[in-house]
Amino acid sequence: MSTLHVVQYSGGIGSWAATQRVVAEHGTTNLVLLAADTRVEDPDLWRFVRDSTVHIGVSPTVVADGRTPFQVFADQRFLGNSRLAPCSSLLKQRPARAWLDGHADPATTVLYVGIDWSEAHRTPAIVRGWAPWTVRFPMCDEPHLSKQDMLDAARAAGLTPPRLYELGFSHNNCGGVCVRGGQKHWLHLLTVFPDRYAQAEEHEQQLRAELGDVAILRERRGGISRPLTLIELRCRHQAATASGGHRP
Ligand code: SF4
Repeated sequence: MSTLHVVQYSGGIGSWAATQRVVAEHGTTNLVLLAADTRVEDPDLWRFVRDSTVHIGVSPTVVADGRTPFQVFADQRFLGNSRLAPCSSLLKQRPARAWLDGHADPATTVLYVGIDWSEAHRTPAIVRGWAPWTVRFPMCDEPHLSKQDMLDAARAAGLTPPRLYELGFSHNNCGGVCVRGGQKHWLHLLTVFPDRYAQAEEHEQQLRAELGDVAILRERRGGISRPLTLIELRCRHQAATASGGHRP
């Protein structure tokens, strides 16, 4: 029986580059490009998925839980953060796993994940998480490519990479609104997509009204760690920017 090759096709440049390696080795006959829709992806992610899958010659298989990350947090009564983000498992892994359960025999399927050599430390947990399917990480193999190398390769193939990279985001997921990001990430979001920041701020406030003093971010002051809300981060940033602007 021939092997089924299933790439976790997230819309990120790593999964595109990984697919290039899978295609070079195995062709496209038994290739599945599995994309999980979190309902909050940047529209340009879907433009890239469309363009790149036409270029590869395999239509994407899109799965979805149907909820957004903040809907998951409301349902779970837990606000995701850098230490624990249930959105990732419920909106990405679980729908993908449901598809695998129905379509991919673990004995004859290889699953590919696009994380690269710079994040190789994450691979053992990912392998454990996807058992009993076999998982491979083509971008952890040599030659090691940087993100810039992968973006250049996409351009050389005639594709326009997802715009979030050009806009300074390190990942193309959830429209740049990722609860795993730190303060720097959120301030970047505030600058580039103030409307998305404002929406996240509103969602965080709604959850605080239900759950108490929780926040996506935390900060440490005087040896004590405390929640840092998006409103507080924005106000501080705006105050610092304003006073900086009036400095003699
Ligand atoms: S990218 Fe961030 S916000 Fe989106 S599902 Fe993953 S962890 Fe959650």
